[in-house]
Amino acid sequence: MPLSRRRLVVLGLTLPVLGAWTPVAAQQQPDWLRGELDPDPGSVFGLDPSVAAEVLLPATRDDALPDGYTPRDLVSAASSGIPANGRQLLRALIVDDTRAMVQEADALGHELYVGSGFRSQAYQLDVFAAQTARWGDEETANRYSARAGHSQHQLGTTLDFTSVFRAFRGSDTALWVSENAHRFGFVLPYTPASSPLTGYIDEPWHARWVGARLASQLQALGYQSWTDSTVDAAIARVRAAIG
Ligand SMILES: [Zn+2]
Repeated sequence: MPLSRRRLVVLGLTLPVLGAWTPVAAQQQPDWLRGELDPDPGSVFGLDPSVAAEVLLPATRDDALPDGYTPRDLVSAASSGIPANGRQLLRALIVDDTRAMVQEADALGHELYVGSGFRSQAYQLDVFAAQTARWGDEETANRYSARAGHSQHQLGTTLDFTSVFRAFRGSDTALWVSENAHRFGFVLPYTPASSPLTGYIDEPWHARWVGARLASQLQALGYQSWTDSTVDAAIARVRAAIG
């Protein structure tokens, strides 16, 4: 279904891209992307193009989200049957996948919960200020925390699956997440291999939802060991192709 500019304005989005559904020429796309952008049934790796246009928005150190971007379907994790550290919000869109992942992990003895879900741009401003105060300068703080407008948590589809980061890193639970998150639609953008390119430290708890089909495709391509590109660059490529 083409996404009209009017509909996006209604959604509160002011993006530069919002035309009709016009995939770029197939020959400009890498093999893994070719064939997954089918304008006829209106599917982008199994997602409705209007959904893909939001969840695949670039959010990196270099790329900011549309100013003030806030998803419209935020719900409380706890009231959606998902364990969480205090009051955490996530998009209703990812509730089923998130709950299924936490439950499957739990059945295997791995404790996952939403340590941090949606964070507004204003809240991230406070987070970054606190990190800057902690580390002494913005450059160092920016390795541990995103600047306001650049956090993937602002998407509402990115979750930290713990709050005890040191205990989580290198644990069996972290290994399980790295091997299984894709089945529930999540990728892990901040790997040790990608750290020089992302600019962020290794964060094995930080998972971004892109839908199971794209996440599984990227998993099959071994994105967690990529050193010459990032999973966010691949996501941006898909996002650009649906321009
Ligand atoms: Zn995170």
